[in-house]
Amino acid sequence: MNALDRFATSKLEALDTAHLRRSLVDSVREDGVWIERNGRRLLSFSCNDYLNLTHHPKVKAAAIAAIKKHGAGAGASRLITGNHPLFAELEARLARFKQTEAACVFGSGYLANAGIIPTLVGEGDLLLIDELSHSCLWAGSQLSHAQVQTFRHNDLTHAEELLTRSRGDYRHALIVTDGVFSMDGDLAPLAALGALAQAHDAWLMSDDAHGLGVVANGRGSVFASGRKAPVDLQMGTLSKAIGSYGGYLCASQPVIDLIKTRARTFVYSTGLPPASAAAAIAALDIIESDAALTARPLANAQAFTRALNLPLAQSPIVPVILNDEMRALEAQQLLEREGFLVTAIRPPTVPKGTARLRLAFTAAHPEAEIARLASVIRERIL
Ligand SMILES: *Cc1c(COP(=O)(O)O)cnc(C)c1O
Repeated sequence: MNALDRFATSKLEALDTAHLRRSLVDSVREDGVWIERNGRRLLSFSCNDYLNLTHHPKVKAAAIAAIKKHGAGAGASRLITGNHPLFAELEARLARFKQTEAACVFGSGYLANAGIIPTLVGEGDLLLIDELSHSCLWAGSQLSHAQVQTFRHNDLTHAEELLTRSRGDYRHALIVTDGVFSMDGDLAPLAALGALAQAHDAWLMSDDAHGLGVVANGRGSVFASGRKAPVDLQMGTLSKAIGSYGGYLCASQPVIDLIKTRARTFVYSTGLPPASAAAAIAALDIIESDAALTARPLANAQAFTRALNLPLAQSPIVPVILNDEMRALEAQQLLEREGFLVTAIRPPTVPKGTARLRLAFTAAHPEAEIARLASVIRERIL
């Protein structure tokens, strides 16, 4: 065995020993909730397809029509020849929905965060980040070379302490946080963070990957308090409730203009396929016109948290924390035998000692199955 293969093998063995190895399983998604795996049909509580739009007939038809007209791929970066007209339409729709002047669509949410943050802050700037923020906000932060300081999860007092102590030493300051935390399902206090940012001459960016389509009539976490929180940069993904693929930023016109000329993951990466943009536009049509649909994932999550006496769900994501990695994996296997797909989430996705089941509720989950899932977890796992 050569040195590279020896290195890979020993890393894998260490991960196996720690129960931290990850592996791929073929999964055939039949619709928004049913999935076939290992020859079995399971009800999935692990897809982020909150509104089941990946399989919606209108969304699929829009994607197919776009492929017929524009082809399967964009063919180049948007700044070269990849800027098919669906982008302008999609960006106008996103900006209107998020109540901003403009928007920019990226290849994915991960690429958006890896591109936006280094465009806005760099050496000599301060970046404050919630400790439970998503991996790609950390990636963007590290790429920026700004001074990164972590504040305790949703702890405004801690964020304020850091700003009071350090703000004066830096040129610009940016606060970044998930709007809906992806592994915990709780919301960031965006209105208060916005006020804090304004008081300290800082900018605020929220990642609404799990808020768009499912929080505040679908408008997302920035609108959770009933009115728009002062968030300068509303980032999100088209890959979850929207049911397609891609990422976006909604912000002022000058900020979007700067991003479109400087963000490396925008400039040097191929534009999104036309089908993804067309599907996202069709999904926004549905989200903006069907308030009953956008309310259902949260209502289903709340039915589950009520059944288990857990804190009332604030989003469609509900964690059941089991601490130990093996216990989480065994719980996943037990639920699979009961016909449910609920993947165990382990470090480093979540902090050490907080391995968990992460449940994602969607509009189409049958009420009786939610009740049965709650009773299996209550009686045989907790
Ligand atoms: C999924 C996710 C992303 C990444 O979005 P993709 O479009 O899947 O790359 C970013 N932020 C958060 C909080 C997420 O959960």
